[in-house]
Amino acid sequence: MYGETEVLVAGAGPVGLALALALTRRGMAVRVLEKREGLSAASRASTVHPPTLDALEELGVLAPLLPGGVRVDRILWQQVEAGARVGAKAGIDLGILGGETGFPFRWHREQQDLTPALLAALPTGSVRFGAGVTALAQDDAGVTLRAADGSTHRARYAVGCDGASGAIRGLAGIGAETSDYAHRVLRLLTPLDLRDVVPGLDGLGYLFDGDGSCSLLRMPENWRLIFRIHPDMSDADAMAEAHARARIARFLPSAQDMEISGRDVYGVSRAMATSYRAGRVLLAGDAAHLTNTRGGMNMNAGIHDAMTLAATLDLVLGGEPERLLQDWADARLAVVRDALLPRTDSRVSGSPAEEVARMAALSPDGQRIWARQASMLDLARIGMPT
Ligand SMILES: Cc1cc2nc3c(=O)[nH]c(=O)nc-3n(C[C@H](O)[C@H](O)[C@H](O)COP(=O)(O)OP(=O)(O)OC[C@H]3O[C@@H](n4cnc5c(N)ncnc54)[C@H](O)[C@@H]3O)c2cc1C
Repeated sequence: MYGETEVLVAGAGPVGLALALALTRRGMAVRVLEKREGLSAASRASTVHPPTLDALEELGVLAPLLPGGVRVDRILWQQVEAGARVGAKAGIDLGILGGETGFPFRWHREQQDLTPALLAALPTGSVRFGAGVTALAQDDAGVTLRAADGSTHRARYAVGCDGASGAIRGLAGIGAETSDYAHRVLRLLTPLDLRDVVPGLDGLGYLFDGDGSCSLLRMPENWRLIFRIHPDMSDADAMAEAHARARIARFLPSAQDMEISGRDVYGVSRAMATSYRAGRVLLAGDAAHLTNTRGGMNMNAGIHDAMTLAATLDLVLGGEPERLLQDWADARLAVVRDALLPRTDSRVSGSPAEEVARMAALSPDGQRIWARQASMLDLARIGMPT
């Protein structure tokens, strides 16, 4: 007997909550076990791509969230020389994706605004906080998870959405190939509206000089300026006032005295689970893949894992063969290996000067292909049962 629960989800991050809601909407009984005492408030993902907006709409949580975020219709690439915006320039209008998605734009909103909306849409009591999974056992009929609060839970299937340092992957005996990128990232926040500083900037811009780049992201309350820093530089030196100002001056000399309202440094990792499945245990989100943050893809990919897995579990719990779960697992692993990791790698390798020239040279068809790939429209539904 399974009690009332058909699927156990470990982790109440954006992926675990999206999965739980997608399963619930399809009529399955779900329990989420979360290690923390509440939702994480860390500032992490900011970029939501069109197919993820389609998914959030399908889950019924998007409409109240949408007005509080930033809609980005156009991406700018601009060569900078000696602080002046000269040389090659390129722009892509995401409206070219109209007809392929209900939301042909990028949307910027903090991940910690998304998770409470997903939680609120779940039936009361779906998430048990303070219940990090510490042990797992599976047999032919189901999976049993033990949590740190002493509780035990059993269901037909369990899904590890417990992030990069979660327990489920290891407990299920699934390996991972992991490597860190050499660089780290300096993130500065400013309330200054950078559209007044950079002509043609909408909500996302990449400025390049001979040595590097500066990404500009408009958020609801501020702008983020993102710089790559050398592996030998300490976090403290990277965040020091003089270094931060010098970085800004290289790309935005007329605004080098801007107010800096926040700053941090984070590392970027690269990882891929060796499989998305071990018997009745499945993985989704950061538990299965990590990428660098350029292009803002990893949470989006995790939510695509969740949507495709919910549809597959629905069929299997309805009596279709378990083989469908392996088909799903193979398909999503191929997405990570063949598209997500190479795509995000390519955005941090190569010469910045070449990137702006390459974007400027794209034909209208080339722009459409680029926009589809950058928006993950070609990846989101891979693994969806037909
Ligand atoms: C600075 C930064 C910027 C980013 N920007 C973007 C972006 O713009 N777009 C994008 O798509 N991605 C972005 N990402 C990546 C994104 O934040 C992650 O991919 C996303 O958080 C993954 O969600 P998740 O639910 O899989 O994992 P997590 O968010 O890590 O959630 C996992 C949950 O599991 C819980 N947990 C851990 N262990 C256990 C256990 N044993 N039992 C139960 N629960 C457990 C944790 O407490 C946590 O609540 C960014 C990341 C960073 C660091």
